[in-house]
Amino acid sequence: MTVQGLFSGKANAAAQISAVPRIAIVGRGFSGMMMAVALMRTVRAPFHLQLFDPNSTVNGGQALASARSSTILNTRVRDLSVSLGDPDDFNDWLCSNAEFRAAVPAAIPGFRQIFVPREIFSDYVYQRFSEALAARRDITVQVCHDPVVAIRRSHGSRFLLESANPSNPLFDTVILATGYGLPRPEAEEQEIPPVRAQRLVARPHTVLLGSGIRVVDQLLQLRDAGYTGQVTIISRHGFLPQSHTPNSADPVFPAEALPQSLPDIVSFIRQACREAEEDGRSWQSVMNGLRRHARSLWRSLPARQKRQFNRHLRAIYDSHRNRLPEAMHLRLKQELAEGRTVLRRGRAGRRGLSGLFFTPAGSSSEEVIHAERIIDCRCHAPDLSAPLIQSLLAARLAMPDELALGLAVNARGETFLDDGSSIDGLFAVGPLGLGSLPDIDLVPEIVTQAYAASERIAERFYPQSQAV
Ligand SMILES: Cc1cc2nc3c(=O)[nH]c(=O)nc-3n(C[C@H](O)[C@H](O)[C@H](O)COP(=O)(O)OP(=O)(O)OC[C@H]3O[C@@H](n4cnc5c(N)ncnc54)[C@H](O)[C@@H]3O)c2cc1C
Repeated sequence: MTVQGLFSGKANAAAQISAVPRIAIVGRGFSGMMMAVALMRTVRAPFHLQLFDPNSTVNGGQALASARSSTILNTRVRDLSVSLGDPDDFNDWLCSNAEFRAAVPAAIPGFRQIFVPREIFSDYVYQRFSEALAARRDITVQVCHDPVVAIRRSHGSRFLLESANPSNPLFDTVILATGYGLPRPEAEEQEIPPVRAQRLVARPHTVLLGSGIRVVDQLLQLRDAGYTGQVTIISRHGFLPQSHTPNSADPVFPAEALPQSLPDIVSFIRQACREAEEDGRSWQSVMNGLRRHARSLWRSLPARQKRQFNRHLRAIYDSHRNRLPEAMHLRLKQELAEGRTVLRRGRAGRRGLSGLFFTPAGSSSEEVIHAERIIDCRCHAPDLSAPLIQSLLAARLAMPDELALGLAVNARGETFLDDGSSIDGLFAVGPLGLGSLPDIDLVPEIVTQAYAASERIAERFYPQSQAV
């Protein structure tokens, strides 16, 4: 479901635009669309909203909608509601969708525990966006297809957005939702053209780079498309995603206070997992419980320990939090057990004429892995060197977080500087805040942050405004 162009709640939109607060959202991925939904539901009084993204379509989030229809989200339906205070909203939407109900009849009475294709989630988000817009005859929404290259203050406290369009107007509020940045030309293609095929391999051989959900997705897509060749996964740390439990893993976590140092915290969590399993629960329940404490835990760690976590533990943490639906995990295990797919730990280097240069972990010598195809499935961190981010840093409208993984933001997405002062009117939501807020790259956390940011924006513009 996609729409292009300009949405307007009223015919005399142009005249109205100049008189009301103007809000820009940069990026129409899931975070940008979620932010739009939250604003339309939260800010009661009129405003003009402009959404920037070079991607010409409008849907429930580019990464989500561009997936193949069979690509499954790895989060259960129960955790994907975009309605604050109504965790069943996505389930209800699915229940009211006759086509979906007919296709998935077994999940009675509801779909809370199942995993659905990304495309369906995108349709749901887009429908909630359309409904929120239809319910607001007092706002205007405009879609622009330009990348924003710089933001600066202008006319006092307002913001000027620079893009290819020379007549960009001023905005009172800007929300950065640029996630992992603009599509990179080489990443867009995903599949790197075959290196000049010197037939050095006995059978077709594909190398997949990365270790997250994307790698597993890509592997299973290849197999579903009939690919029978050998696959090698190259992962820096060698941790592939773990499995979800077949049924719901309700969060549990020990009531005792957490220890202070990182090694003690790790032992504490390991012990909690062991105890949960002994009690007939799962380690997955403990990981779900840990996510509820992650934010305060992260805040309490000194920068040195955060860096330590990033270097040594993040890959393990990611493999335990971004879990695969059981059926996908079983297929992955089978691939590895049968040797059709091999996992190699180490560093991927440059591409040669017949494959990829590779340095195995613990070794200093490079070898060549001969392959006909190399597919990069790595998830790149937000790019702080992008011109847009650089313009913000140069104008002191934002600063990098302690680990320089993204921008320093608070739970409401407000950017702040080293003296602790937040930048009035500027927000960064979603993965841009990953160094400040754990798990802010996941749907539930993005939803919460989008509503918190919207409440803040409502307070700024209209102090009397209440959530609709
Ligand atoms: C394949 C995949 C599977 C996932 N599965 C799950 C899941 O099961 N559960 C879960 O909770 N999360 C999942 N996620 C994670 C979650 O959905 C993402 O973290 C979230 O989609 C991030 O969205 P975003 O909008 O912040 O960033 P992005 O998706 O990266 O979108 C950013 C957008 O901003 C645009 N942009 C960037 N720079 C500019 C600029 N200068 N000017 C204008 N536009 C710009 C880009 O073109 C892009 O469209 C998944 C993500 C992916 C990619």
